[in-house]
Amino acid sequence: MDVVYRLGDSLYLNLTNRCINQCEFCVREYKDGVADYNLYLDEEPTAKEVISKIENPEDYEEIVFCGYGEPLIRLEEVIEIASWLQDFDVTVRINTNGQANLIHQYNVVSELEGLIDVISISLNAKNAKKYKQLCNPQFGFDAFPAILEFIEECKKVIPKVVLSVVNHPMTSIYECRKIAENFEVEFKVREYSHSDNEE
Ligand code: SF4
Repeated sequence: MDVVYRLGDSLYLNLTNRCINQCEFCVREYKDGVADYNLYLDEEPTAKEVISKIENPEDYEEIVFCGYGEPLIRLEEVIEIASWLQDFDVTVRINTNGQANLIHQYNVVSELEGLIDVISISLNAKNAKKYKQLCNPQFGFDAFPAILEFIEECKKVIPKVVLSVVNHPMTSIYECRKIAENFEVEFKVREYSHSDNEE
């Protein structure tokens, strides 16, 4: 199992298999990893274990909390690792489904201030109904409005916010782009053969 893995100039940190969604396009639904990496974790690593595997962060353009599940389920570990990374000249990004405030039942975004340079939030749908159909969130219809609130909170403290959508027959690229424009944040379309696990 690979706790850290390199794709291009980025190093990805794989903290958990767990997620509160079950997206139609999720890589976890059809394979054990990405590229030649096996991302299925038998055991979740501690923050210290992850740090010990990074070696020199400045060997990479960016370090990405991503992995095989939703990284912000492990908020404490994300904070500990991102705090350690502050001593290095490297961009720190999180790829997330944007539901951390529902998961933890409080606004976690302020805890990421000063630690995270970029947050990439998977939007994928134009409204709560479509989101529920595509992503099967545990939080049901509450998930989508919580993601919109999360985007707003991220804009306050994280330098760069990106909304992403998978190019899948069930996603609404045009409408999602409009949402990103309304939030005045970047927008990115990802190919269906990938998922936000491997962005
Ligand atoms: S694609 Fe991301 S949000 Fe969706 S189930 Fe997989 S890990 Fe969770």
